[in-house]
Amino acid sequence: MYRADISGAGAATPGALVAVHDERGRLLGTALYSSASQIAIRLISQTVVTDLTSLLHRRIQEATSYRERVVRDSNAYRVVFSEADFLPGLIVDRYNDILSLQILTQAMDAELAREAIIAELKTLQPAAIFERVDAHIRELEQLSSRSSSLVYGEKMETVVSLNEVQFHYDARHGQKTGAFLDQRENYAAAAGYAHGEALDVFCYQGGFALHLARNCAKVTGVDSSRPALEMADRNAALNSNEIEWIEANAFDLLRDYSGAGKKYDTIVLDPPAFAKSRKALETAMRGYKELNLRALKMLRPGGVLVTCSCSYHVSPAEFTEMVAEATQDAHRQVRFTEIRGQAKDHPILANVPETSYLKCLICLVS
Ligand code: SAH
Repeated sequence: MYRADISGAGAATPGALVAVHDERGRLLGTALYSSASQIAIRLISQTVVTDLTSLLHRRIQEATSYRERVVRDSNAYRVVFSEADFLPGLIVDRYNDILSLQILTQAMDAELAREAIIAELKTLQPAAIFERVDAHIRELEQLSSRSSSLVYGEKMETVVSLNEVQFHYDARHGQKTGAFLDQRENYAAAAGYAHGEALDVFCYQGGFALHLARNCAKVTGVDSSRPALEMADRNAALNSNEIEWIEANAFDLLRDYSGAGKKYDTIVLDPPAFAKSRKALETAMRGYKELNLRALKMLRPGGVLVTCSCSYHVSPAEFTEMVAEATQDAHRQVRFTEIRGQAKDHPILANVPETSYLKCLICLVS
């Protein structure tokens, strides 16, 4: 609930556990309060909760057993995903024997909450727990500054396996907590259709590219980040793959390549979130359209386009519509062979639409 939507917070202290009542005084539930964020109240239960510590233990256990049911063929996955696991402000990712932790709100940052979280995570028997700090978020939440560091154990590097493809992991570096784990199931799905010459645009550390390499004669990955490509190259070596990495602005490269008449059999588009807010939507849609149009023009008949958007503000319907328009403009035919979303370890809650954000369409192009 946004600050603008609450009539008052009484004497609630930063990060407090508070009872939430409607204007007639009826109990709506228990929430975590933030004195700084625009999101003043994050509901954690529809009943009365007085002991946050035991709630944290129970919820982390529930999150863990959910993963046991849905995660296959991977030792890297999201263990706790904030609101989607009824633990707003807490993100935990497992990278083989290292857990990466992110604390995003006053309530989760309180000493007692931290202790409970770390104690529960230790029961998962990791070699180490590393806390990734987002300085900007700590500032917005008016939390004391802190740097990323080990909160348990010594280990900061390991190797993870996703769908039997190996990746180096370094807890200190990389975007998000290190990898885009939400795409894990889409890597395997994309590899199932990939063939011939492949281009992975916005490849980061090679998530799609390394999976495509199983079934493609040649794979090229493109990203504007040199550190990401250096890691991608180490990952390729780890899997004995030969992949060409190109450091470039994807928009420029696609314009040049499509202008030059270059052709591919498989193209992956996985850009960063163009629409960070609803206001940015129009510009974002133009960006998506340009990328998709150029990719469609560059695909040989029978080709495969894997096109993604991680912007929550772009709805699945809007995204599909954009691809349909690009198809029309490119004078091609597209079958959506798979309409996909985020991996199952990133749960989608029926009553929290914001928990569903990733779109991934696998298109067969004729
Ligand atoms: N497909 C990747 C995740 C991509 S995240 C995976 O599955 O792991 C988006 C990537 O786009 C980031 O690596 C970022 O460095 C890159 N990027 C952002 N803007 C770019 C641009 N204009 N041109 C090329 N790469 C860009």
